[in-house]
Amino acid sequence: MEYSKKGERCKMKAICAYCGKVISKRPAVIKKQKHVFCNRVCSGKYVGTHSPKQHRSSYIHLNKLFKLAELYKLRQEYLQQNDKMT
Ligand SMILES: [Zn+2]
Repeated sequence: MEYSKKGERCKMKAICAYCGKVISKRPAVIKKQKHVFCNRVCSGKYVGTHSPKQHRSSYIHLNKLFKLAELYKLRQEYLQQNDKMT
């Protein structure tokens, strides 16, 4: 093991999950996080490219649920009206 600087003695080499740059982080940080990034810009971009799909699909899923709930409500109203008529 070679250490270039005194301060980096307890740091481990890691690769930025977004741009692939070699960075040094404390082992504790690497262990704690699934992905490490060289800076906040990279972490932001990574999140931006990896999570919108999930957000969008859950959003669509919610919309579907709302539509179903609305249909159910309409159906109930329709049935109630029919009840009144008979
Ligand atoms: Zn990076």
